[in-house]
Amino acid sequence: MNEIKKNTFLFKKVTTIKGVGPKIATYLKNKKIEKINDLIWNLPYSYTDRSESVDLSKLEIGKITTVKVKVIKYNFPRIRNLPNKINCVDSFGSIDLVFFNSREGYIRKILPINEWVVVSGKINYFKNKYQITNPDYIATLENVNYVQKKIPKYSLTEGIKEKSYRKIIENVLGKLSDITDWHDKALLKKMNFLNWKQSILKIHQINKERNINSPEYRRLAFDEIFAHLLILSNNRKIVKKIKKKPKNLKFKNAFLLEKNLDFILTKSQKKVIEEINKDLTSKNKMFRLIQGDVGSGKTIVSLMAITNVIEAGYQAAFMAPTEILARQHYVLTKKIFSNLKINIEFISGKTDYKTKKIIYQKLENKEIDLIIGTHSLFQKKIKFKKLGLIIIDEQHKFGVKQRMDFAKKGGLDCDVLLMSATPIPRTMMLTVYGDMDISIISEKPNKRKSIITLSKPEEKINELWPYIKKQIETGNQIFWVCPLINESKILNYSSAIKRFEFLQTKFYNKVGLIHGALDKDSKEKVLEKFLKKEIDILVSTTVIEVGIDFPNSNLIIIENSNKFGLAQLHQLRGRVGRGKKQGTCILLFKGSLSKNAIKRIKVLKSSDDGFFIAEQDMRLRGYGDIMGFQQSGIKYFKIADPVHHSDLFILAESQIKLIKDELKITDKYDFLLKLFDRAELTNEFVED
Ligand code: ADP
Ligand code: MG
Repeated sequence: MNEIKKNTFLFKKVTTIKGVGPKIATYLKNKKIEKINDLIWNLPYSYTDRSESVDLSKLEIGKITTVKVKVIKYNFPRIRNLPNKINCVDSFGSIDLVFFNSREGYIRKILPINEWVVVSGKINYFKNKYQITNPDYIATLENVNYVQKKIPKYSLTEGIKEKSYRKIIENVLGKLSDITDWHDKALLKKMNFLNWKQSILKIHQINKERNINSPEYRRLAFDEIFAHLLILSNNRKIVKKIKKKPKNLKFKNAFLLEKNLDFILTKSQKKVIEEINKDLTSKNKMFRLIQGDVGSGKTIVSLMAITNVIEAGYQAAFMAPTEILARQHYVLTKKIFSNLKINIEFISGKTDYKTKKIIYQKLENKEIDLIIGTHSLFQKKIKFKKLGLIIIDEQHKFGVKQRMDFAKKGGLDCDVLLMSATPIPRTMMLTVYGDMDISIISEKPNKRKSIITLSKPEEKINELWPYIKKQIETGNQIFWVCPLINESKILNYSSAIKRFEFLQTKFYNKVGLIHGALDKDSKEKVLEKFLKKEIDILVSTTVIEVGIDFPNSNLIIIENSNKFGLAQLHQLRGRVGRGKKQGTCILLFKGSLSKNAIKRIKVLKSSDDGFFIAEQDMRLRGYGDIMGFQQSGIKYFKIADPVHHSDLFILAESQIKLIKDELKITDKYDFLLKLFDRAELTNEFVED
């Protein structure tokens, strides 16, 4: 497909464009614009209206204006730092064009005496005269159409003049070639979509506010959604094709295990266990995600799968994102499996060399049935004799690419189960996890008391101290979360540090601090101290590690709480009340709350259902803020908006369903996937 090859210049570096030198490239790079394609998706958000040319008698101070004037007189002062001034007139008045840091020769060239020119810039008034200082545009009358128009305004381009950026983007747009569309003609027609090139040109030709519901915008958003779902669906088909040896499950130990639990499994848990068993005994490799709210009881479900697989003669590996969480799983598993003959080992980056070597040996000889640990589980050196199941806890931190890497792990006969405690709106499930089978644990064990959620204005913070003292006296521990203020990490730490210092004046050495600037080891040390009850209050910036059980933490205080997304607040409060006592969450807020903020707090107070909350969050804040999406692929939609373009997701899904077999990524799709940075997410199943 030759015509598509023509557009491949889009995937080259911006420096290959004429006029983009190292300086501009650096500016662009700071804004994450590196390839030419990134320029295409940096859309104009508004325009500068230079379309009306005005008589010099009708100038308005402060307004960006276009004038047609005749150059009358130069004034080049011989004193340094004084600007060059050029006087111009039309039939109605006079104006000075003022240039700082300009060279005389240059001015003589662009503003020849007695010639008429078009000038556009902001009008100001100085010593009784109208002026334009450093005009944005100067052109000859022949080129009036280049200047006298609505000119798109782009964000992300500080440091680059409108004029220069315009040259760059117009150059790029001018080079685009028509392509054979990847969508059906009939579909384009039905949806009122323009062809690809026309859509791109039009979306950059803004003459109103940006409209994400315009046909050209929707067409391109559809492309993006289509590319995204196509990859996930394709990856899924690739995994589905992998044949494995079905596992012969006996359910003896699982039965014992269930009998010995001091609770009854919920219906949801049972349903999910069945879904997993079906996968384990099938001829296809399992690649399944368990989605379940905090506290919905995913761990026990995974342990059931583990016993079944081990009983069938395989080994299992259980990975958690942090040392502490992995260790908690290890301790719990040891306890739960104590009556069964299962050899369990723990490994992490901290395990000493000698122990590691023994573990490696034992895994190769199948003297270990279950290994629990951190990322170190996946070192090349580790060889299993007969690995049958990999479980990865709290997987939402991983993206599509990493997920596929996990799917590959363990060889063909190894099943893979991922678990995530970040509920997402059901409508988004496919978008985020379309490459996997999904099991949802929809109900929570009713043994758990729901957390009491209160809100309080920050001025009344003093009312908290006696309450907190009492909490500590009765053996409860407290999380104190400081907000994420914009993007400013430094501010963010400092607010936590300030709060920490303040709390120390009240509660002395019983206060700990954890924030993003600490390294992993120091973080774990603080958490360890908190777990051991050496400190009572833990001040932290954002997320306190998901999944870890702090059985004595029953109070969480969240400062400036309206800075957080609902889903995130729900996650945070899920950190408390995990033991037997009642958990309480206090949301502090600054000043008075907006209507929207009040609604958000209401949702939190009234519901304990992570899925419902995620749905509401998306409706109230837009999808971009939903926690945990960043890496899962959805955050990096360049133009599509899952809230506003939900119909396009449904359409894309139905279109992709029409593709029966695993797709051979042809030129045309390759181009589409590259346009949206999805190409590198395709997965080839080659054994490592
Ligand atoms: P998560 O889904 O957040 O990982 P866990 O698996 O850690 O949740 O379970 C949270 C707590 O709930 C644990 O203490 C666990 O023993 C308990 N639990 C799990 N299932 C049930 C159940 N069916 N009934 C009562 N308690 C349960
Ligand atoms: Mg968990």
